[in-house]
Amino acid sequence: MRRRILQLSQLTIVLSGICLCSSVHALTTPHSKIISASSNNKTVRVRLTETIARAEVRGFDLSLLAGPTRKYSTSKDKMSRWEFRCSNGKVRALQLLEKGASAAIELPEPVTIHTPAGFLSFGGKPYRNELRIYSKGSTCEVINEVDLEKYLDGLVNSEFSARWNEDAIAAQVVAARTYAYYQMLQARAANRHYDVDATIKDQVYDGSIREDFRSSRAVEKSHGIVLTLGTANAPVPLKAFYHSTCGGHTELPQNVWGNPHPGFKRAVRCEFCNRSPVYSWDVPMNGKEIGQALKAGALKGGAFPGWPKNWKQTLQKGQLLDLRIAHITPQGRVLRLRTLWADGPNAVELTISGSRFREWIGSTRIKSALFQVSAERAGKRLAGVAPPGNKREWHFRGRGNGHGVGMCQWGAKVMGEKGYTMGAILKLYYPDAILRRLW
Ligand SMILES: [Zn+2]
Repeated sequence: MRRRILQLSQLTIVLSGICLCSSVHALTTPHSKIISASSNNKTVRVRLTETIARAEVRGFDLSLLAGPTRKYSTSKDKMSRWEFRCSNGKVRALQLLEKGASAAIELPEPVTIHTPAGFLSFGGKPYRNELRIYSKGSTCEVINEVDLEKYLDGLVNSEFSARWNEDAIAAQVVAARTYAYYQMLQARAANRHYDVDATIKDQVYDGSIREDFRSSRAVEKSHGIVLTLGTANAPVPLKAFYHSTCGGHTELPQNVWGNPHPGFKRAVRCEFCNRSPVYSWDVPMNGKEIGQALKAGALKGGAFPGWPKNWKQTLQKGQLLDLRIAHITPQGRVLRLRTLWADGPNAVELTISGSRFREWIGSTRIKSALFQVSAERAGKRLAGVAPPGNKREWHFRGRGNGHGVGMCQWGAKVMGEKGYTMGAILKLYYPDAILRRLW
């Protein structure tokens, strides 16, 4: 196997005419599974939904293939509409005709819907390649199987914008490709039937509806380039986290989710995202609001470890006396908060992690864990404990938006505008990774 090694800006890119991923090795963290994937399989399985009672699919010359026997039904040379309803491992399919619906046929899951025309319509949006429907209790789970590079074409204008500088977009595409490829290998090692969700949980994807020539050009520019670890003969993609705005410093995964991830040894200073509209923010909240939000979060997700048995009553009726940051990361993100409540004659302390506090208050309100707290009344900042009375409030003043791990999207955008190359942008935010063209 012959390889060329190029220096692109400060980052080494290993180019190869042959895919290097046929002997991909295991990652080294305890929660990582052994990775082995076909070098030819670059189809990503994107879960579009799992909660709909009825799925309608339109397309030209549709074929239905169902279960292990792969029975099929087709409508040749014409546009057709099918409705699918799911229950207990079965999918009921009926064709919607002008005169009414055809008789329903009951098919074993999964039902694959294919068109030779290249695009199918589901939920009013066009999707490439194939759709696959699984029955999940009484709802349908719909998965789009699509070529990874084409998936990225659709992703550009959902996760970022094709109008950004070309190098900034290319850097973001590499991060998105790497993230998806990592998830593909993990899912196949774990025998999962899908790789990524089409939501903020993984990467936001609306099919091909937002594709344009700029997004395709950005994907083509970086075709097959992945952020990797390991040797040239056994490259491994890292889980290329990214986020909106770091607020001045990125963060390490273990400080956000509790576990380290390979390829993230260093958090870095970022001086490029201060033009982001969410670079700084100020959220005032009174004790009642905080108590209600924490109670709702704890009822849904379980009380935080160490909370006393009467936490529900404390959060419902108690008065918030004090709220302080107890621990921060070296980068300044909140690891732990301490709250003190007056519950009848008792003072009750409830501590909570910064990430859980953010989740329960709402990650669109407390946009990142990079914040400070001050107790105030009537617009006047006070030192220490807030005064009693209904007008007391706590101000959460913070910077950035998102978890802070990996690439800062606003920083990447500004770096591109300032003339930094794709390689230089990726080198800043993923300093421990090597760029390789894997296909
Ligand atoms: Zn930044």
